[in-house]
Amino acid sequence: MGKKIIVAGGGAAGMCAAIYAARNGADVTIIEKNTQLGKKLSMTGNGRCNLSNLNMNEKMYNLSAEKRMKQWLSVYGVLDVINFFKSLGIVIKSEDGYLYPVSGQAGTVVTAFENEIRRLGVKVIYGEQVKSVKISGSEPDDKALDARQIEAVLTRGAKIDNKLEKYTVVTNLNSYEADRVILATGSLSGAKSTMSTGDGYYICKQLGMNIKDTYPALVGFKCDQNEQMPENGVRCTAEISFMLGTEALAVEYGELQFTRDGISGIPVMQASSKIVKFLAEGKPIYASINFFPDYDDEDFLSLEKEMLRLRDDRSLKEFLNGFYNSNINDMIVSRMKMSASMKMKNISESMVLSIFNAYRNYRIKLSESYGYQQAQVTSGGVSLGDIKDDMAVNDHHGIFVIGELLDVDGRCGGYNLQWAFTSGSIAGTVASL
Ligand SMILES: Cc1cc2nc3c(=O)[nH]c(=O)nc-3n(C[C@H](O)[C@H](O)[C@H](O)COP(=O)(O)OP(=O)(O)OC[C@H]3O[C@@H](n4cnc5c(N)ncnc54)[C@H](O)[C@@H]3O)c2cc1C
Repeated sequence: MGKKIIVAGGGAAGMCAAIYAARNGADVTIIEKNTQLGKKLSMTGNGRCNLSNLNMNEKMYNLSAEKRMKQWLSVYGVLDVINFFKSLGIVIKSEDGYLYPVSGQAGTVVTAFENEIRRLGVKVIYGEQVKSVKISGSEPDDKALDARQIEAVLTRGAKIDNKLEKYTVVTNLNSYEADRVILATGSLSGAKSTMSTGDGYYICKQLGMNIKDTYPALVGFKCDQNEQMPENGVRCTAEISFMLGTEALAVEYGELQFTRDGISGIPVMQASSKIVKFLAEGKPIYASINFFPDYDDEDFLSLEKEMLRLRDDRSLKEFLNGFYNSNINDMIVSRMKMSASMKMKNISESMVLSIFNAYRNYRIKLSESYGYQQAQVTSGGVSLGDIKDDMAVNDHHGIFVIGELLDVDGRCGGYNLQWAFTSGSIAGTVASL
């Protein structure tokens, strides 16, 4: 029998690592505190599982991860994910580069993982919570695998001989001996049912790793309660700049969604990781919304001129009807403290121009994010400075940390699952050697 490996956490990263290790002949056990594997995976992509993206590069990840991601993605990138899923019998399709299973069901992806895990004889212990990892045995080996070696391992099945420590994985109920431990317990983000309570941060801290402050990311924001908002559920294409004073922390374009008490949608989620930290520190952040993102200054000027011709007997409400979404019109009129029944001929041209201006720069003060349970990922986590290129911990070469537990967060679009599979495949392969 090969190396005895314990994988803590049976999510996307942990299951992937277990499969790579078991395919390499290791004796693998997954300890999962939930009653099922891949709970969060089954909820991804609105139930469709956006598992990667053809537009893949390191810029899709947080700044502190970018440099390392370039190398990791060169070892295990989007084509490797496609081939991996082929090996699980999952057919993949691209929608503008966003990769999904053709089945359109995240559940089929989880089942494919479970089937392979069973086929390979990986043991799964459900309902036990890993609490800590104790270290005993030989001196740690100070050899790190470089990118060339990892590639050799992954593509040519090279064997690398390491002398390592021994480990005891302690759960709430039992203790388990292992030659290698892969920590894949995920983050703090996700609905309660995903059991994302950030246990791995404590386990890694006990092992001497540094944990970068965590924040909810890929998440929407509540707005200041004094803000004028449109009716719940309004969606519109907009450009949104997130401003701290005069500095734009992030600028995004896409379908903005107004919620009961805030804003959400893809452009807000994409920007979120860059602004949550400032909000948490109590800094004043404003979303500046341009409801006419496809008009440049000249186009908008001609639109204004066209519209100004209609300053006649009609009311402001009639004037704006057809100019933009009626709920947004109402919100802007109310913000301008005007009455919608006012006759246009009684409103000065400069006032009309200020109304138009509000459509290009509508500022809303944000108060806080919707929090971890609404967030798709967590920014921050185990510092990459503590992790070698082969995903092993600098000071303990038989302990590997993978997936969202690390300080890696990607944009919406399959980048976070790609990371789970990249880090899982590397750790699973190297741990089995
Ligand atoms: C609603 C939603 C939609 C998403 N959609 C997408 C998408 O379409 N595309 C994309 O790329 N990303 C998406 N993501 C993000 C993606 O799901 C995560 O980045 C990814 O699942 C992280 O994988 P992981 O294995 O690191 O963590 P997880 O998938 O969270 O797995 C961690 C596992 O560890 C277990 N665990 C935790 N603590 C312990 C412990 N102490 N002992 C034992 N087990 C433990 C948990 O129960 C869990 O099963 C989405 C996230 C959410 C919440």
